[in-house]
Amino acid sequence: MLSASQLDTLAELGEERTAGVGDVLFRVGDRTYPFIAIREGEVAILDGAGNEIVRHGASKFLGELNLLSGQTVFLTAVVTQPLRYIAVDREALRSLLFEDGQLSELLLSAFIARREALQQVQGIGLEIVGPHTSAATMRMLDFARSNRLPFTWNESAVDAPSLPLVRLPGGVELQAPSTGEVSRALGIGRELAGREEVDLLVVGGGPAGLGAAVYGASEGLDTLVIDSTVLGGQAGSSRRIENYLGFPAGISGTELTSRAVTQARKFDARTATPYRATSLEPGNGRHVVRLEDDHEVAARAVLLATGAQYRRLPVDGLGDYEGISIFYAAGPPEAQLCGAARVGVVGGGNSAGQAAVWLARGGALVTLLHRRADLHETMSEYLVRELERYGVAVRDSSQIAALHGDDGQLEAVTLESGERLPFSFLFLFLGAAPCTDWLGDAVARDENGFILTGADANTDALLETSIPGVFAAGDVRSGSTKRCATAVGEGAMAVQFVHAHLTDHPLTPSSARH
Ligand SMILES: Cc1cc2nc3c(=O)[nH]c(=O)nc-3n(C[C@H](O)[C@H](O)[C@H](O)COP(=O)(O)OP(=O)(O)OC[C@H]3O[C@@H](n4cnc5c(N)ncnc54)[C@H](O)[C@@H]3O)c2cc1C
Repeated sequence: MLSASQLDTLAELGEERTAGVGDVLFRVGDRTYPFIAIREGEVAILDGAGNEIVRHGASKFLGELNLLSGQTVFLTAVVTQPLRYIAVDREALRSLLFEDGQLSELLLSAFIARREALQQVQGIGLEIVGPHTSAATMRMLDFARSNRLPFTWNESAVDAPSLPLVRLPGGVELQAPSTGEVSRALGIGRELAGREEVDLLVVGGGPAGLGAAVYGASEGLDTLVIDSTVLGGQAGSSRRIENYLGFPAGISGTELTSRAVTQARKFDARTATPYRATSLEPGNGRHVVRLEDDHEVAARAVLLATGAQYRRLPVDGLGDYEGISIFYAAGPPEAQLCGAARVGVVGGGNSAGQAAVWLARGGALVTLLHRRADLHETMSEYLVRELERYGVAVRDSSQIAALHGDDGQLEAVTLESGERLPFSFLFLFLGAAPCTDWLGDAVARDENGFILTGADANTDALLETSIPGVFAAGDVRSGSTKRCATAVGEGAMAVQFVHAHLTDHPLTPSSARH
């Protein structure tokens, strides 16, 4: 609900308009729409099939996360009582969010809550058509989930070469599209020019990259964040982060990272996904990072924040089950899938513990397998207690040697001891390897592939790599603490080193040309 003074503030920036009963303010498939604050009257919000979801009256506002992200419109707004309203365009709204803390909190919380609510409603957003046996379909579902897009999955069979069929809001159909094609069609992030020039390129949009984006952009650097999958990184897949400062009741990874992305955009950091960095060429005034699909970014400073990726289980046929009955994250869809089923969670760290508790609370019969003799060596005490509380069986010194099942559906696993355990689903939390292969020899790395910084890379700046002007933060950095708060802190701190580098290396006409 907007106060009278907030309505007046919005009116100063926007345009006062009127509309009659039956007028459509925006409809499914539109590329964009303004933020709408209602002075008088009423508007109904409908899904693509014309079903009413909600009505908004005087002092309410229309708008959702896509107002900031620029995604295609998922809903239709029809006037149901004569309307007097204020329309504020996206750019003007963005600057207002920057200046007005109270209004910013009200709108951003509502936008995020509305997106989470839309994700629960069938028939909104994308329709993804394809059976669960199609790996391309499962990848597309993963993409939609991790981008928090509202979607409906229709498991009908479609001709194999067309899998999956993706129907966009508004009815356009794409056959076997790449995730990049769907992103662009929805207007997510922005399409990069063949060559972009920026002050700061952040490679990786997890907590470290987003921390750098917020501080870089808010301190005046022309900042671009690219990510090969979705913004949010590993933290985005965490069910509940209990140890992040300021959230005593814990916060879901989705909410924390959605807020961070919204905040970065509010400060005008540009974000572009999915763009995978494939090489780094150090330069004199600008370093060039090449991306998939023939794009390149020339940046005066680069922050490497590509994090680390889950380790896979070294067993035959793993790929046949991944995404169908073997997963690397446990969210609401997985909890729903696994209710009352026998589930194995593999790993001795906190992420395995959190997933096991989450699945057990959802009604699954959970067994946690780990290879050490005592779980206390690797898991926080509070989680060990939670495992007990929710009836999770713990098997010490256990490793999986083989998987059994058909058509991607797991039926059992055999342990190295020879024992067979009947699991329908398996969740793997086996630690992570750094996402640094794409760097080759461009920067110095440790024996495990993590990036060396500071004294280890022969430089005074704590987060600088072996190349001046190239920095590393978060999980990808050798010796870092693998936690959200440290990643955010390092990302923020890296910006100070970037400023110092840019001051010491002003652009000259020859260096600018690289
Ligand atoms: C299930 C789970 C639960 C967790 N729970 C907690 C918790 O409760 N508390 C806590 O403090 N920490 C927790 N963590 C750890 C925390 O999430 C990580 O420490 C944190 O996300 C690291 O942030 P980062 O930005 O360094 O890397 P990441 O979050 O890994 O982000 C890196 C990003 O870089 C992108 N990327 C990789 N390669 C490329 C490339 N070549 N080009 C472009 N982009 C690329 C990736 O797509 C990714 O989005 C959890 C982790 C997991 C997996």
